[in-house]
Amino acid sequence: MQQQARAWKKAGVPVAVVPTMGYLHGGHLSLVVRARKAVGPRGKVVVSIYVNPTQFAPTEDLKKYPRDLSRDKQLCRGAGVVLVFTPSDKQVYPEGFSTYVVEEKLSKSMEGASRPTHFRGVCTVVAKLFNIVAPDIAVFGAKDFQQASIVQRMARDLNFPLKVIVAPTLRERDGLAMSSRNKFLTPDQRAQATVLNEALHEASATVKNKPASAYRLKEQIAAHIATRPQARLDYVEFFDPKTLEPVQSVKCGTQMALAVFFGKTRLIDNATL
Ligand code: AMP
Repeated sequence: MQQQARAWKKAGVPVAVVPTMGYLHGGHLSLVVRARKAVGPRGKVVVSIYVNPTQFAPTEDLKKYPRDLSRDKQLCRGAGVVLVFTPSDKQVYPEGFSTYVVEEKLSKSMEGASRPTHFRGVCTVVAKLFNIVAPDIAVFGAKDFQQASIVQRMARDLNFPLKVIVAPTLRERDGLAMSSRNKFLTPDQRAQATVLNEALHEASATVKNKPASAYRLKEQIAAHIATRPQARLDYVEFFDPKTLEPVQSVKCGTQMALAVFFGKTRLIDNATL
């Protein structure tokens, strides 16, 4: 990969990377479309597929994470991806690996609070990927809003010479955000999982005409989530989309994010209200 990346650089070919953990769906492919648009007809789009062990806690679903590499490669080919980069664990984490990248501010809340070592793993693997692929552009999904914000911050703070584009969340017809983990839901859980998107709409509607207290709105959203017997709210947060600082007064333009368990499956979603 590194050799190919150097050849492209030398030839002045624009390169975009779309980092993923595979088991691709329409959301991932929409990032590829965005990446192709960004690099133009002369450009190349690389998709990386790597289920990164350092971003999973020991209690999480690393082993169970869905994988289907041959299907993924076929989808990538169909979407005009020139190279699917699938490094092995040994390549990414050679024996004695002991260097990590830690973002220390935006990583503390929400996903970082629920999954304390998660963003250290994400930043480390994304930084390595940026060094290996040397892209001009990297495309991330707004589905993982906090992750995209942290990667943008890391790229700026560590002087990676690339632009990070954040592309919108693709949803199923009933509003559920596409996710590789949706596959784990039982039919009953799948039906109830629309509650995340409903909660985003409910909060939007509540603050449409006047601001609301974050405390009260959290109670309202928790009560809505509780109407689905299989759903267990992990967190709901209201925050400034630029700083990720929590707000006390929620209004139009405030960012909302939530995480909800259905059995062992944990789903996340977010939106600008
Ligand atoms: P993942 O394979 O889940 O790590 O996701 C890889 C990239 O795809 C990340 O930048 C995600 O934010 C993005 N992504 C995941 N789901 C969606 C979706 N439904 N719509 C848009 N982007 C998504």
